[in-house]
Amino acid sequence: MNAPSTSFGVIRSMSVPRLREMITKTAAIVLKSMKFRDTSKIVTFYSRTFGKLKAVAKGARETKSKFGAALEPMSLVSLVLYKKPNKDLHLISQCDILDQYKNVHVAMERMSVGLAMVELLERVTHDEEENSALFSLVVDCLGVLDKSDKNFQSILLAFEVQMASRLGFGPSLETCLSCGTTLGRFDRKAVGVFKIPQGAVVCPECLQLPPLPGGRMSIEGRKSSMEVFRVLRSFQEKRLELIPSIEYDDATGNEIDETLRLYLRHHFEDLKPLKSTEVFQKLFEEVKGG
Ligand SMILES: [Zn+2]
Repeated sequence: MNAPSTSFGVIRSMSVPRLREMITKTAAIVLKSMKFRDTSKIVTFYSRTFGKLKAVAKGARETKSKFGAALEPMSLVSLVLYKKPNKDLHLISQCDILDQYKNVHVAMERMSVGLAMVELLERVTHDEEENSALFSLVVDCLGVLDKSDKNFQSILLAFEVQMASRLGFGPSLETCLSCGTTLGRFDRKAVGVFKIPQGAVVCPECLQLPPLPGGRMSIEGRKSSMEVFRVLRSFQEKRLELIPSIEYDDATGNEIDETLRLYLRHHFEDLKPLKSTEVFQKLFEEVKGG
């Protein structure tokens, strides 16, 4: 009966000494917060160094809290944390505002786009998976949203398609999935198909080929004009500060919105409609209705 004692011995010698919490500093965007106990909050951040993480802000709901407005969603903050190894809830030591994106808060449409971005980021990311490119994207999108005076919706669409790229499944919008021809050469009104599982486009010429086998690929997918793919490609490629200047009509915008929604849902099956979008949709309707 030597074996069991030997294996226990091995386990004991391999066991990790108790790790102590460390104090660490990172830039982060506030995604959301919720009440915790009598006076505190649990805040979810997307941080540059650790990706998404949750931390307790002790006393954050007291009137003279040291945190002030730093824990509001969409704030860019400098965060000092007591980070506990192997725990999913940490403790905030200090949280200072780096940028509040004040203009985002004063206009309803801008705010709905900003809140939709942070809500989406919260839903599609896992705790403590570092992705500094994704952190930079949300910071830059909030910055552009704060400064721009038109086409706010474009910033959300650009955020969605660029987020997909930075998570490793950006759609392929340059060439036809079937024949490899450049999509940019087709008339804007010509119709192609976006194949959602592949995240790629089948060109108008391939759609005219005789049906399978040996002919065209299965055309299951979303039929759209080449204009839709052209604008979507601009959202994917252009520098963010140029995004609000991209012009397109409402039908194209709605089609891109729907295509991206289906595409993201294909990759995140449990992705429900965003709360922020629903709330603002209702508000818009109330405003329009007088
Ligand atoms: Zn083709």
